[in-house]
Amino acid sequence: MPAASVDYLKDLNPAQREAVDRLDGPVLMLAGAGTGKTKALTARITHLLKTHRVRENEILAVTFTNKAAREMKERVGRMLGRPAEGMPWLGTFHAICVKLLRRHAELVGLKSNFTILDTDDQKRLIKQLASSVDVEVRTSTARWLASIIDNYKNNSWLPDQVPASKELWIDLETGAEFEELDAPKKRKGVMSSIDFYKLYQARLRVLNAVDFGDLLLHMVTIFQTYPDVLEQYQRWFRYILVDEYQDTNVAQYLWLRLLAGGHKNICCVGDDDQSIYGWRGAEVGNILRFEKDFPGAFVVRLEQNYRSTPHILAAASNVIRGNENRLGKELWTDREEGEKVRLIGHWDGEEEARWVGEEIDAMQVGTRGVRPMNLDEIAILVRASHQMRAFEDRFLTIGLPYKVIGGPRFYERMEIRDAMAYFRLVVSPEDDLAFERIVNTPKRGLGDKAQQTIQVVARENGVSLVDGARIAVDNGLIKGKGGKALRELIDGLARWNGMTRGPRIEVDDDSVIDDGVSTIRYGAPEHTHIELAQIILDESGYTAHWQNEKTPEAPGRLENLKELVNQLDNFENLQGFLEHVSLVMDNEQDSDGAKVSIMTLHAAKGLEFPAVFLPGWEDGLFPSQRSMDESGLKGLEEERRLAYVGITRAEEVCTISFAANRRVFGQWQNSMPSRFIDELPEDHVEVLTATGLYGGGQQSASIETRAAEANVYNSPGWKRMQARQGQYGMSQPRESRNTVIDATAIASFTLGERVFHQKFGYGAVIGIEGDKVEVEFEKAGTKKVVSRFLTAKDD
Ligand code: ATP
Ligand code: MG
Repeated sequence: MPAASVDYLKDLNPAQREAVDRLDGPVLMLAGAGTGKTKALTARITHLLKTHRVRENEILAVTFTNKAAREMKERVGRMLGRPAEGMPWLGTFHAICVKLLRRHAELVGLKSNFTILDTDDQKRLIKQLASSVDVEVRTSTARWLASIIDNYKNNSWLPDQVPASKELWIDLETGAEFEELDAPKKRKGVMSSIDFYKLYQARLRVLNAVDFGDLLLHMVTIFQTYPDVLEQYQRWFRYILVDEYQDTNVAQYLWLRLLAGGHKNICCVGDDDQSIYGWRGAEVGNILRFEKDFPGAFVVRLEQNYRSTPHILAAASNVIRGNENRLGKELWTDREEGEKVRLIGHWDGEEEARWVGEEIDAMQVGTRGVRPMNLDEIAILVRASHQMRAFEDRFLTIGLPYKVIGGPRFYERMEIRDAMAYFRLVVSPEDDLAFERIVNTPKRGLGDKAQQTIQVVARENGVSLVDGARIAVDNGLIKGKGGKALRELIDGLARWNGMTRGPRIEVDDDSVIDDGVSTIRYGAPEHTHIELAQIILDESGYTAHWQNEKTPEAPGRLENLKELVNQLDNFENLQGFLEHVSLVMDNEQDSDGAKVSIMTLHAAKGLEFPAVFLPGWEDGLFPSQRSMDESGLKGLEEERRLAYVGITRAEEVCTISFAANRRVFGQWQNSMPSRFIDELPEDHVEVLTATGLYGGGQQSASIETRAAEANVYNSPGWKRMQARQGQYGMSQPRESRNTVIDATAIASFTLGERVFHQKFGYGAVIGIEGDKVEVEFEKAGTKKVVSRFLTAKDD
């Protein structure tokens, strides 16, 4: 026990030690990744407790996630030599504010037993509000309104504090948005976002409810309005500590500044180079302003990195140097050289996942001079959650245990389960569970009552829900808008089901009668199953449902849907795909035992792993297309910080990879290696060649496949890739995967090409974006259309 008390200080370097010793007054630890900021912060808590300056419940310590809070508590316990049980104020901003607000709810017109709305409740409430002004808002508009309100709250603006420049005029009915001057204000259903926010807050109060944003906003309001309450907490929380300070938003910042205003015993740690939540309202300015807010602050700069090898550190430092807006810090390490950062190019995303799987298997016994690794020492960090699908599938296939951190697994995601339910129903119309899931998704105006009617009719007639629904509609039991939409759904399901087959083929009677059982034969279906999947998602309104959403999550969900359709390319038909998914999902992994971690780069903040894989370093994916399209550097710099966060998670082995092709809706898209790859310092990077690993590079036999390949090889992306092949190791496609390339899926249009569209007539291609083609039609003007509805016209 006494040993523990000495150890926690002995483990620190002089700079960290200073930050721990300087218990009073404002302290800022502004330092790069892996320099021991979190460690020093934890030691500081221990030191406060050990020197008996404070009791456990007088320390306010804020972490970014609940997981980080648990870990910090454990670490303090280890340093103390006893469990740190009584630290009620160690947690996330939200967790701490819930507790505080329960005590003072009445000061903002609430009762202490207020309910906390989740995002679904929030949407429902917004819809009710709109209906009170006689407008029916779509779910997408409701979600968008919710995100506007969240944004106001992140900035700590009450309705009457929102700056006029942030006011939007919204047509609640259509979701259209206007500049103030153009807004047809008098029209019914057009409303100012600020007025709506006002209504929303008033309604929450009536309901005795808060949303997440309110937790901080109310506490800031209370502290600002009731100085006595504020003082009470300023005295109570004698020491304040904050990890990941660079990612606080304005409301969190104000809350902290108010609480620390008395004694100013506040210690914040962070790294401006790791500010990655700007898109959610975080303000890196908060950390840069610390010395101004707290004059005389003691600023500690830590420069020794304990986490990563010199090669990894050099790679990370070189990448982040590309940012203009940063303080600039140099890090060093006295760790052994170790492995260079490894870089490898792949044919496509599937190949990348396959390679990573094989590499992880090899790593467990030790490869290329790297010590054998346990699965829990290995992590895969992706830029976008849809990238996880390829890895999950591959790992399930080869039986490699994995866990997804900070989110559901790919096939458990809401949008994926919805889409799968549609596919299941098309393949087997009697799948009642699937029907229940999608009958009113997207919203078709079928409330509980209509759904009950369907159930009853189906039961009484002993038929499936789809058939029950048909009977109900035919007999006028479900009428109006809902009835019409239901009819469309049922007809759609029948039509799509028909599309799974080609035309019925009449065959000679003698040959079809076999043991008295007649055989029915069908010709080849008109559409491939990939096209069919897309038709189902489009015609059912499901794609549009997410396209109309204006929330930050919506693009990610659309990406996941695209990834789902991509994957169909690996199967012969929908049925085969559905079987695959039920098999892999059934393959529940036992909960014990070491597992590879898969997570997004955002979720990896603050964590470390001996071996890290960073896949998908391609322009358009990482950095994201949105950040590249944006004018100015802001988005791109945030992406670069994300790259820095990714590389600096690695302790011993860091492997970066990219693919030359990604499939989007069954179509090949060529991708270029990420611009961040060019920023990696050559001396610290080893380019791997995949060929040697599993004998890639074979040519496949069939003529069709060759033809398909030739098309891909002729693609500009592949040619550019080839030019760089000597520079970056490139794995060649394997025979097995070539055979699934669908020659028609590769066909695409070129800029300027003359095309024809059934509805819009003739036009010229002026832009291509995935499977969407922008066409300037001769009569209909400029439109974006799905490429499969276009035909090339050379005349
Ligand atoms: P990040 O910016 O990624 O959050 P950080 O600055 O918070 O990183 P820590 O996670 O605290 O860094 O520390 C990184 C690693 O270095 C940990 O494994 C930690 O135990 C180790 N470490 C920190 N300080 C020291 C030290 N003085 N001596 C030995 N190891 C240390
Ligand atoms: Mg940390």
